[in-house]
Amino acid sequence: MDIVLLGPPGSGKGTQANALIESRGMVQLSTGDMLREARISGTELGRQVAAIMDAGELVTDDIVNALIGQKLALGGDSEFIFDGFPRTLAQADALSDLLEQHGRRLDAVIELLIDPEELVARISNRVSCPNCGAVYNLHTMPPAREGYCDDCPDQKLAKRGDDNAESLNTRLLEYYRKTSPLIGYYHKAGVLRRVDSDRDIDSVSGEISAILDKSAA
Ligand code: ADP
Ligand code: ZN
Repeated sequence: MDIVLLGPPGSGKGTQANALIESRGMVQLSTGDMLREARISGTELGRQVAAIMDAGELVTDDIVNALIGQKLALGGDSEFIFDGFPRTLAQADALSDLLEQHGRRLDAVIELLIDPEELVARISNRVSCPNCGAVYNLHTMPPAREGYCDDCPDQKLAKRGDDNAESLNTRLLEYYRKTSPLIGYYHKAGVLRRVDSDRDIDSVSGEISAILDKSAA
C-alpha cells in the first residue's frame, strides 16, 4: 500500500510518518528530508536549492520528481509514505506516471486538517536533531534534557533554517496557492481521506491506521 500525507507545514506529516514506520513498517519518502540531506552533504544539488528552501519557496518540479523517481526505482515491495510530495499538480501527475511505471498505485491520500493559527504556534516551537531527525516541540513534546536529543548523546537540538516567521509565511502561501489544489485532484480520484490533525499525536495516528486498515481490507 502506498499513501500520500498532505497538509500545510506544521500539520504533522513527519510525526505521523514516523508513527506509520513504527506501527506498519512503511518507508517514508520525504522530499524535504532528501533536500536537507543534499544540503548537508554539500552536493551541487544542495547548493542549488539552499536559498530557495530558506526563503520558504518550492524547488522546481524537475528536481523533486527526479529524487522520487530514484527512490521508486529501488522500491521493491516496500510500502511508501510520500511526505511533502507531491506539492504541485505537475508533481501529482509525475507521481501518478511513476507509480504506474513501477506497477504501483496510491491507496490513500491523507489530508491533515489544521487551523493556520495553530501552525504558526507549532512551527515557532519546533526544534529537531540534526543527527537523527527527531522532532520536538518546546511546549508540547520537550526533550528529556533541555536542548539535547533524547536518542543521540550530547547532540544539541537546532531550529530549522526555514522555521522563522518570514519564511513560514511564504511556505503557507506556497501551500495554499500551489499544493491545496491537490485536495480537489485527489478527491476526484476517490482516494482523499481527511483527518483532524488538531489533536494529540496518538489520536491522529489511530485514525490514520483505521483508515489504512479499511483501504487494505
Ligand atoms: P514543511 O512541510 O515543514 O514545509 P518540508 O521539510 O517538507 O517542510 O520541506 C522543506 C522545504 O523543502 C520546502 O519549503 C521546499 O523549499 C522544499 N521542498 C520539499 N518538498 C518539495 C516539493 N515536493 N516540491 C518543491 N519543493 C519542496
Ligand atoms: Zn538525535
